Amino acid sequence: MRRKLLLGNWKMNKTIAEAKEFAVASVRLSSIARQKGIEIGVAPTYFGLTTLKSVNPDLIVCAQNCHFEDKGAFTGEISVPMLQELGIDWVLIGHSERRTYNNETNLSCNKKLHKLIDNKMIPVYCVGETLSEFEDGRTKDIVETQVRVGMGDIAPDKVKNIVIAYEPVWSIGTGKNASQEIAEDVCLFIRQTVRGLFGETISKNVRILYGGSVKPENVKSYLAQPDIDGALVGGASLTIASFEELLRNVAD
Ligand code: PEP
Repeated sequence: MRRKLLLGNWKMNKTIAEAKEFAVASVRLSSIARQKGIEIGVAPTYFGLTTLKSVNPDLIVCAQNCHFEDKGAFTGEISVPMLQELGIDWVLIGHSERRTYNNETNLSCNKKLHKLIDNKMIPVYCVGETLSEFEDGRTKDIVETQVRVGMGDIAPDKVKNIVIAYEPVWSIGTGKNASQEIAEDVCLFIRQTVRGLFGETISKNVRILYGGSVKPENVKSYLAQPDIDGALVGGASLTIASFEELLRNVAD
């Protein structure tokens, strides 16, 4: 049984004070989520991690990136031991904004996935095609490569600890969300790819999220799809009111 997961990506938004305000209000949402059997969480900037974790220990608190080395000359980066020191065990890997602006590749994602899995942490591995790739009909080729290379050589028994997020790049922050049919078709394809790589049982257990302009008014229709186990939400996760609406609409 795959538990539904609602995960907010705050990107470069919210000061520590703003994160704290959200964290305080989120305690009530965690109790609703617990009753409904849904997992909820957010990925703040590094500065919000400790605040969120200490104010609401029931919230999944996810970093937006990490390096694959433990330490060294990597200016501006943050490592797994540093996150572990804060009690953080979830990390977004390969978000399209990092692929676009920070030269993240399938190979660097693979190194990060290994690092996290080796440290018993939970990567949320983001995949998805650009607009031109979508228009050229190459979505499945692109996503298959991202899954094959990004998850290359992961021990099959560890794959259940990876969450995959399908986020078509053309739908992120654009208001142009993929239809439920497209989202389900690609999420099913990802599950089939995982099955080909790691076997039937593992593919049935791995959680696959959809992300891309998810809003309170459309979240339910995505989560009603058989191969979509949750949502990765940017803009609509930023206010507690909107997050609550997302949660209530998922839970209904
Ligand atoms: C995201 O940041 O991963 C995302 C899906 O953003 P938005 O919901 O704003 O499209």
